[in-house]
Amino acid sequence: MLVVMRHDSTPAEVEAVCERITSLGLTARPMPGGERVAVGVLGNHGPVDPARFHGMPGVAEAIPVSAPYKQVSREWRHDQTLIRLDNGVTIGGPEVVVMGGPCAVESEDQLMRTAERVREAGGTVLRGGAFKPRTSPYAFQGLGLEGLKLLAKARERTGLAVITEAIDEESARMVADHADIVQLGARNMQNYALLKVVGTLGRPVMLKRGLSATISEWLLAAEYLLDAGLHDVMLCERGIRSFDAATRNVLDVGAIALARNLTHLPVVADPSHATGRRELVAPAARAAVAAGADAVIVETHPEPAKALSDGQQALLPDDFATMVRQLRAIAASIDRPLATLP
Ligand code: PEP
Ligand code: MN
Repeated sequence: MLVVMRHDSTPAEVEAVCERITSLGLTARPMPGGERVAVGVLGNHGPVDPARFHGMPGVAEAIPVSAPYKQVSREWRHDQTLIRLDNGVTIGGPEVVVMGGPCAVESEDQLMRTAERVREAGGTVLRGGAFKPRTSPYAFQGLGLEGLKLLAKARERTGLAVITEAIDEESARMVADHADIVQLGARNMQNYALLKVVGTLGRPVMLKRGLSATISEWLLAAEYLLDAGLHDVMLCERGIRSFDAATRNVLDVGAIALARNLTHLPVVADPSHATGRRELVAPAARAAVAAGADAVIVETHPEPAKALSDGQQALLPDDFATMVRQLRAIAASIDRPLATLP
């Protein structure tokens, strides 16, 4: 339930609505908006009777929120969430953001070379895993804290913002200290204990869709982050499992368009993990931007053959630059510029 206040309502009237909600044993979430305040009602297990608010001074209307997720829904908040990064780039606005970098941070040389090329190509955010959730325990697990320090150094050198994955509470605290965006991976989408912690760290989060998560499960996972107090949350469609392994996963382009309708949170697309094959990454990225993605996150490596993870899907820097040029044209066709560094 959302209690929408009249535009001329007073703070005392808003307070009275909050008290009415609390007296029903529920939680009130006042949300100042551009034009008028709305008060969200949380904690109800069944429908709340709108009549309880009708006729209260200052109340314009009481609207039931039908979706199982509340705070992430467009019903709850109509205006798009804008995530402003320290390097001046905003995610979720008219501009489409390009994030690029290696699957994993491997060495200073590898990361700096990649970061320079991402920036030259027109990317504005650098990706690179320091904590890697690998399918095999014998595969490269990441450089950990050393990797985070290298990412921070690359940010200083290039002006790119930094996104990197956290895999547990300990790494999440370290990532929040070093990076601009905390990535929560597909394998952790339903790690609710982790979501509750990361929602309190105050850093923007990119939540990847689980390997076989429904859109509703994905949005409910994001709801955990908002319920823990975080506003700067973006979703990432990274492909879902199907019966056919010819492509690593299936990029759910419809989910990108649908998520843009269902929620006010920015939607990112990851064509690298969705396709798993270098030659399919740029076409999938183009489709994602055409479908309305607010950002793409793409793996690139100066020497993919030597990559310690996901080399088969890494674009060469030149091919990454070509892809960015194509994305700029596609974004322009739907009246969206690509974000640039100031
Ligand atoms: C990654 O971004 O390198 C990664 C492990 O992604 P996902 O969680 O989507 O598999
Ligand atoms: Mn990867």
